[in-house]
Amino acid sequence: MDRYDVVIVGSGPAGMGAAFEISDHAPDASVLMIDKQRYSTGGMRNDCKMNFTYPIGFPLEYWDAVDADEYLEKVSAFLSPNMLTKSNLHIYKQRAQRLDVSMIEVAQTHLGTDGGLKLIQQLQGELERRDVELSLQEEMHSIDLEERSITTNTRTVGYRTLLIAPGRQGFRFLQQIMDSLGVPYVDNIVDIGIRVETRLERYPIVKDYYDPKFMFPEKVRTFCTNSGDAHVVQERGETSHGESYYSVNGHAYSADKGRENGMVNFAMLKTVGLTEPLASGQLFAEHLALQAMLLGGGRPLMQRVGDFRLGKRSKRDEFNHDLYDFPPTLRTCTPGDISLAVPARILRYIWKSMKNLDTIVPGVLHPSTIIYYPEIKLYANKPRYADSHFRVADSVYFAGDGAGTSRGITAAWASGIRAARGMRRYL
Ligand SMILES: Cc1cc2nc3c(=O)[nH]c(=O)nc-3n(C[C@H](O)[C@H](O)[C@H](O)COP(=O)(O)OP(=O)(O)OC[C@H]3O[C@@H](n4cnc5c(N)ncnc54)[C@H](O)[C@@H]3O)c2cc1C
Repeated sequence: MDRYDVVIVGSGPAGMGAAFEISDHAPDASVLMIDKQRYSTGGMRNDCKMNFTYPIGFPLEYWDAVDADEYLEKVSAFLSPNMLTKSNLHIYKQRAQRLDVSMIEVAQTHLGTDGGLKLIQQLQGELERRDVELSLQEEMHSIDLEERSITTNTRTVGYRTLLIAPGRQGFRFLQQIMDSLGVPYVDNIVDIGIRVETRLERYPIVKDYYDPKFMFPEKVRTFCTNSGDAHVVQERGETSHGESYYSVNGHAYSADKGRENGMVNFAMLKTVGLTEPLASGQLFAEHLALQAMLLGGGRPLMQRVGDFRLGKRSKRDEFNHDLYDFPPTLRTCTPGDISLAVPARILRYIWKSMKNLDTIVPGVLHPSTIIYYPEIKLYANKPRYADSHFRVADSVYFAGDGAGTSRGITAAWASGIRAARGMRRYL
């Protein structure tokens, strides 16, 4: 059996944060990082805009401002972000305040999907120089706590300390691991929402603030805004019964490409917390996603705001005409009626928030604006951690979006560092 001092599962930002922290403080430790994909660094491959202001990305149950700021300083020192400038914020802030909406000012940088790939190459090169072994297309299947080993698709690997950071896509895998370790958890929270796409001139705030963060009453927020050369994409998900579904998302290429499509997209997400009776957010989201797939013939739904307002479905032959003056960037979606698919309360709160947003940035609710559904974020496993370093069992740690310790690149990196600080005591 191969043995390493440290094994890290997942090469996303959480895994990276941990790998660099370990190699900074225990340079002689042998470190293996595995990833089931053919390439490395998980969600940093998408858009790669990074937020450096608490509480963006930091779940409040695990982070306070003082802690998060200390870690963000480390993340920032490592990634040397080139912060984007902002302007005219006082105007939007004032309008927002009148509606009981808060606008959070966030220090941001945007590398774009292409810029993110360059960063990943740099990080991989740096890890190689530090003798961290990266094994791709290697997937962790199970853990043997007594043996201190994990089984992957290719071998059994021993560890002195282990970090499992499989990201949002590893949500269910983490649940299996928690079940096998007897770690109690709940997954009662989920974010459900829509992705909005419009022409840049109808949401011009993005020229003043790249990814504007608005928090509306009733736990609705704007999330992941992309502009310039911006595209809506779909991600495949699988239910616990093996059925496929798609959730939408968005990304943009870096500004320095000089290739703009003049579009903007962003998500409006509603956080749903299930309490009495306590139910799984994942199962709830799966049902909603399958319902959307049923109505969309296996594809996400899209609807023009003009049709939505009139209470009629969008149809393919009327989707691009007259007022509807741009084609969707995700053409494979099915024009339809999202109000058939979204639960009433969720839709009501999101629509109310959209109207508020249209008062703050007039134009975003132009009839041509497209609403895509569903956008689902399953990142709220809440394991009972044994300490503040996200330890779940003897020498075993979790971190990142799948483990509920983060909701974004910088916070995932910070939670990897925080886990690694705990792991160091086993070295
Ligand atoms: C389209 C898209 C756009 C996004 N845009 C942004 C953005 O602009 N800014 C932002 O802050 N966040 C963004 N995010 C979210 C961001 O990607 C995540 O917050 C972040 O990557 C979480 O880091 P992580 O390390 O927890 O997980 P991930 O980055 O998902 O990495 C987990 C890794 O673990 C691997 N893995 C999973 N299971 C196993 C296993 N069993 N064995 C071995 N390896 C495994 C996966 O292959 C993956 O590479 C975006 C996400 C998507 C999908």
